[in-house]
Amino acid sequence: MNKRIYLCLAHMSGREMDFIQEAFDTNWVVPLGPNVNGFEEDLSRFLGGEHPVVALSAGTAAIHLALIQLGVQAGDEVICQSFTFCASANPVAYLGATSVFVDSEADTWNMCPVLLDKAIQDRIAQTGKKPKAIIPVHLYGMPAKMDEINAIAAKYEIPVLEDAAEALGSKYKGRLCGTLGTFGALSFNGNKMITTSGGGALVCPSEEAKRKTMFYATQAREPFPYYQHEEIGYNYRMSNISAGIGRGQMTILDEHIAHHRRVHALYKEGLADVKGIELKCKPSDDFDSNYWLCTILIDQEVTGFDYEELRVYLDGEGIETRPLWKPMHLQPVFAQNPCYVNGTSERLFNQGLCIPAGPCVTDEDVAYIVERIKGRVERGKA
Ligand SMILES: *Cc1c(COP(=O)(O)O)cnc(C)c1O
Repeated sequence: MNKRIYLCLAHMSGREMDFIQEAFDTNWVVPLGPNVNGFEEDLSRFLGGEHPVVALSAGTAAIHLALIQLGVQAGDEVICQSFTFCASANPVAYLGATSVFVDSEADTWNMCPVLLDKAIQDRIAQTGKKPKAIIPVHLYGMPAKMDEINAIAAKYEIPVLEDAAEALGSKYKGRLCGTLGTFGALSFNGNKMITTSGGGALVCPSEEAKRKTMFYATQAREPFPYYQHEEIGYNYRMSNISAGIGRGQMTILDEHIAHHRRVHALYKEGLADVKGIELKCKPSDDFDSNYWLCTILIDQEVTGFDYEELRVYLDGEGIETRPLWKPMHLQPVFAQNPCYVNGTSERLFNQGLCIPAGPCVTDEDVAYIVERIKGRVERGKA
């Protein structure tokens, strides 16, 4: 096999160029415009129609603007899942606030509710005030234990910002991720479930919150004929061109999700009896993952090699893989942040690999990847 198999490539429906052409034909080559409105409506409809959505320049921007609306200010603390991509936590720092990192549980790999409760109690005891928000993440598309997390959040009256950047289309107990907290953040970066070449969206609790989000995303301009500003704003709106890509992508979102799940099912079958290699699967039907990326854990005691050896080997065989997210509490930049850990995310980080998934991965690709992994395991320590 000569072609290289990538982790998760963007895949176009063919409709994207129509929407972009329309933008050029009507000279809407600007931020905002009909594609932005259309994309926001598509997203809102996909999410069940009850939540207004604002399209933004990035998922990171969505998290930032949600935190502002939740009242996060300099000196505040925000609880954030440690096992995640840095974009969950960076916006907390933009605001001069501090992320308090909470480790994962083993079922979903997401925020551990038991540790969350303990962390909140301890922060209140140590600082005399409550954290301002809780950011659970649906890592690799697997929904977090939202009922438990929301119950704790309600007990302490702390709002929840769902980082659903990797979980578009995932469902928790039949309800779509992104709609389960006060705000939900989505990402359309190049390798996510759908792409706008770069972009994100904030799922809002009300029309009022949508209006506020748009206000902050357009430099906090007040409604005057001249430019009047009473607060600090940002330039975070999505361009009408990017949104055209997004509208095209929405026409195949369901197919993308089905394909990600199909790839996962094929891996499950193929890797079922491979000793020392465990494919991550949903802990129960309550957690309907979109399987954005498929992940495996390598038991070195059994295989005789670790994730890095396997990564280098597969790379040589034309297969791109990647270690799991390095937990935030182990990142040098967050070394001073408070953290509540149980060893789970560190153990996963030291054992796991993401393997190729997504619309560009064919059945033959999966068969080839499975065969390579199997072959390497059979050779053992050699
Ligand atoms: C991709 C991602 C983001 C940020 O999205 P961008 O659009 O890249 O800014 C946030 N959180 C997680 C977990 C992500 O994977």
